[in-house]
Amino acid sequence: MNILVLNAGSSSLKWQLLQMPEGKLLTKGLAERIGERDKGRIIFPDRSFEGDLPSHTRVLEKLKSYLDEHAAWPIHAIGHRVVHGGNEFVEPVRINEKVKQKIRSLFNLAPLHNPPNLAGIEASEQYFPGIPQVAVFDTAFHQTIPEFEHRYAIPEKFYRDGIRQYGFHGISHSYIAKQVMKKSRAAVKVVSLHLGNGASATAILNGKSVAHSMGFGPLSGLIMGTRSGDIDPSVLLYWMQQLAMTAYEISRILNKESGLRGLTGYNDMRELERLYEKREARALLAIRMYVNRIKKYIGGYAALMNGLDALVFTAGIGEHSSLIRKKTCEDLDYLGLSLDAEKNLNPQLHDGLVHAEDSRVKIYVIPTNEELEIAAQTYQVLNPHSS
Ligand code: ADP
Repeated sequence: MNILVLNAGSSSLKWQLLQMPEGKLLTKGLAERIGERDKGRIIFPDRSFEGDLPSHTRVLEKLKSYLDEHAAWPIHAIGHRVVHGGNEFVEPVRINEKVKQKIRSLFNLAPLHNPPNLAGIEASEQYFPGIPQVAVFDTAFHQTIPEFEHRYAIPEKFYRDGIRQYGFHGISHSYIAKQVMKKSRAAVKVVSLHLGNGASATAILNGKSVAHSMGFGPLSGLIMGTRSGDIDPSVLLYWMQQLAMTAYEISRILNKESGLRGLTGYNDMRELERLYEKREARALLAIRMYVNRIKKYIGGYAALMNGLDALVFTAGIGEHSSLIRKKTCEDLDYLGLSLDAEKNLNPQLHDGLVHAEDSRVKIYVIPTNEELEIAAQTYQVLNPHSS
């Protein structure tokens, strides 16, 4: 079964065509700068297009004609990444009018993400009529987080209005949970660290998310490329009350100008590593802060799960920065965790296992693959008896 995976952002659309259940990649590409007059770009493996891309619909039209040229790749189903599934969606679902209506009703919770996700769905319906479509939600994996963990200690009426932790990066953490289970059945208590431009930590107990660092939105938790992560809400109140800053300004600061960029001017970890080697003060501080925050979550989650069997690093920084892995694992021997310095430099030579022989906790470096996970979940929805 060939499954087209679509990940629609506000001005971009990425796709992969995967043959499932084998997981074989047939083709992939992306469109950028959708909605920016004449600046649009679509990149196919063998060609590119530059010009006006007024909407996701136009991109789907071009993708459809590209795929039509490749008769060997008929599309049997489409899997869409949808960021916010609210309380409604605990698992992936086949898309129908009711599902679309629910995704629309969540626009206020995810104003930057759900509208383009729905635009991608509607454009696909137009160009791939009659082909089953499935929505895979980034929040769904975290719906197993218990109430005592996902609630905020604020008056109950707000909870009833939907103010609670939802969590994100769920497609990636769910992929990691399955990969860890494949590698070691004994790994029951797992902490998954997704360290990309966005970053989050998840406590996974018996394959299920039980605690997570992102919250109502994707701002809380770890320090990220340009997002602050945890910050005392009193700072926001101070900005509003004493400096009359607007919600728009505060949002810009916390989302785009904070994190590693706010601390150093750079949000690319490669640049920070270069400065760190030169002992540049801001880079030393930022990396210390970045790692400290991660350690607090590892320790906190080990406490919640009464121990730890495996720690996993994934996404751009987790997969590629041996420095961040090394610093994160330093002084965690109280948990029985010990990194092998040599293996850490080349995880791919060791099947992603980077712990020392005497380490009680396993340490894995596992490349995440959100597209493959979306395709796998889409396949599962359409072939419920397949596994
Ligand atoms: P996104 O969240 O946008 O998908 P990625 O998972 O691609 O992001 O991660 C982007 C981050 O990974 C950037 O901070 C980048 O600097 C970092 N990164 C990528 N390659 C390396 C590398 N070789 N060494 C250190 N950091 C890297």
